[in-house]
Amino acid sequence: MLSDACRSTSCEDVSPHEMDREEMMAIWNEPVRLFRLANALREMTCGEEVSFVVNRNINFTNICVGSCRFCAFRRSDGYKLTKEEISEKVRAAEEFGATEICLQGGLAPGMVLEDYCEMLELIKRDYPRMHLHAYSPMEVFYMSKNSVPGVWDSIRELKRAGLGSMPGTAAEVLVDRVRREICPEKLSSEEWCQVINIAHRLGVPTTSTLLYGHVESLEDRIIHLEILRRIQADTGGFTEFVLLPFMPGNNPLGLIARRIDPLEHLKMHALARVVLHPLITNIQASWVKLGRDLAGRTTAWGVNDLGGTLMEENISRTAGSKESQCITPGELKEMIERCGRRPVQRSTLYERLG
Ligand code: SF4
Repeated sequence: MLSDACRSTSCEDVSPHEMDREEMMAIWNEPVRLFRLANALREMTCGEEVSFVVNRNINFTNICVGSCRFCAFRRSDGYKLTKEEISEKVRAAEEFGATEICLQGGLAPGMVLEDYCEMLELIKRDYPRMHLHAYSPMEVFYMSKNSVPGVWDSIRELKRAGLGSMPGTAAEVLVDRVRREICPEKLSSEEWCQVINIAHRLGVPTTSTLLYGHVESLEDRIIHLEILRRIQADTGGFTEFVLLPFMPGNNPLGLIARRIDPLEHLKMHALARVVLHPLITNIQASWVKLGRDLAGRTTAWGVNDLGGTLMEENISRTAGSKESQCITPGELKEMIERCGRRPVQRSTLYERLG
């Protein structure tokens, strides 16, 4: 239940999207005010509901030419799923009740647009109702470079092949100085924004993300949020904002990254609610990265979505996540109820299901 202190915080006159950088830095240093405001805005926007999606991750390959320093997933001699293996995973997902397949993978040498379209078509042919949430801006950038069409035509082709929405991953921190340190070969901030803008203009919604808790500063995080805010004001194409805490296991960045404590995680989720309100209304915590307990606690301070069931999770697991790879819809509902909130199953695009 909400505390009286939270209930007494009025947001009638608050326009946090107009906060300038200095004000955002200031509220970070006033946790009580930050938490109260975040919770009041969450309550005003989403009431007592906390949503989740029944989905399955499929990482079709871990072979990658990239060199991101936070990555424990990539291999130069890893696996590549066959069509049959992908089909079998989708069949199991449908049996589980999944409404979404989240399809992402490494940047395998030589993969072209047709390969990416083929995977979408393969799934859509047998499971036409399944929503396909696929391919990060980095993957779109990569396939466009390996094929004749540019980004615009690539996304148009992917959409024709069945793409429903795109993950806004590969954003990491949209500050090139930080990117040079953590993922020097990845697309630049500007290129990430260009791919996202094109997707939105072509009617392909995306999520938005932040990889935080490594070498970035608070100001870097705020610059990142400001960029997302500007894009959303312009296109309205973001469905949600997902906070992705850095996982330090088995990767070079983990050796130099600072460690952040639970309070900082909670503050970061609260800050996202405050800064992005009212442009992005869905703020998601990752149960697989934060752990179930801490993820649940974020719903008291701004978060209204706990993501998906996943069914399999390789990225965080290889980087040290202790969580299981799958959570059932029943477990998610119980977790949300234990936090005093009302669970709601949703589609990828936040339509209420069931
Ligand atoms: S994060 Fe993605 S692009 Fe970067 S090395 Fe890992 S698999 Fe490759």
